[in-house]
Amino acid sequence: MATIARILAPNPGLYTGPGTNTYIVSSGGEALVIDPGPVIASHKLEIVAALEGLIPVGVVATHTHPDHAPMANPLAVTLEVPVYGYQDGPSFSPDIRLDDGDEVGFGSEAITAIHTPGHTSDHLCFRVGDVLLTGDHIMGGSTVVIEDAAAYLDSLYLVRDLGVARLEPGHGDAIDDAGAAINEYIEHRMEREQQVLAAVRGGAGTIGGIVDVVYEGIPVGLREAAVQQVAVQLKKLFDDSAVWFEVGTAEERTEVRAR
Ligand SMILES: [Zn+2]
Repeated sequence: MATIARILAPNPGLYTGPGTNTYIVSSGGEALVIDPGPVIASHKLEIVAALEGLIPVGVVATHTHPDHAPMANPLAVTLEVPVYGYQDGPSFSPDIRLDDGDEVGFGSEAITAIHTPGHTSDHLCFRVGDVLLTGDHIMGGSTVVIEDAAAYLDSLYLVRDLGVARLEPGHGDAIDDAGAAINEYIEHRMEREQQVLAAVRGGAGTIGGIVDVVYEGIPVGLREAAVQQVAVQLKKLFDDSAVWFEVGTAEERTEVRAR
C-alpha cells in the first residue's frame, strides 16, 4: 500500500483556494513528489524535510499551470531525480513525458497517468491504488475553470469509470465519496450549459449579457474568468449546433443567438 502525504503550499488565492496541495506518495522507502507548486523557498524546504528517511525517485506535475509545476525542475535538480509530465510549459520541462496509461514506479507501487484534458489540454490525473490524485480536474470545495467544455465532460466520465474510492485534489481537502463528487461535477457542467443556452434563448445577445444572467452578482475580480467560461461553454454549444456566435470579438461586441 502506498502512503500519501499532503503538504500545503503557501499560495492561497482566488483560483488556488487555501493553496496548492503537494503530494508525497511513498512505498517501500521510495517516494514521488507530485505538484511541487510555485517556486517558494519555504515550501521547498518543507518538501525536502518531508522526504527525510525516504529515497526520492521523481518529481511529477499534473499540468503546467504556474501554481503546480514551476518548482518541479529546480526541486528535481536538488533531489537528483527526473521530472515527469505531459509536455513542456512555461517554467516546466519534463525529462520523461507521460501519456495516458503510463506508469511511474516507486517502491513496489506505481502511479498511472490518466490524460484528462478540459481544465487544460495537458492535464494528467494519477491513480494510485483506489485513490486518484486529481490536480485541477476536480477540486475540493469548488468547481474548476475550464478551457474546453466538451473535453472536460468526457474527462469527467473517464475518471468516473475508474471507480476509485477517494480523490486527492490539487486544491482543498480530500474527497471520500469519489463517485458522488464526480457525479456532482457532471451535473454542474450540464446545468451550466443549460443556463447559458437558456440565457441566449432568453435574449442575451453578447457574452457580457450572458455573464450578467448566469453569473449574477459575481465579484468584479472573477468577472474575467466568468467571461472566459461563457466563451468556452458557447464553443461547445456552437459545436453542438445549439447556438451561433461570432468568434474572436470583444466581450460586448460578440453577437450570440440561438439557432
Ligand atoms: Zn490549473
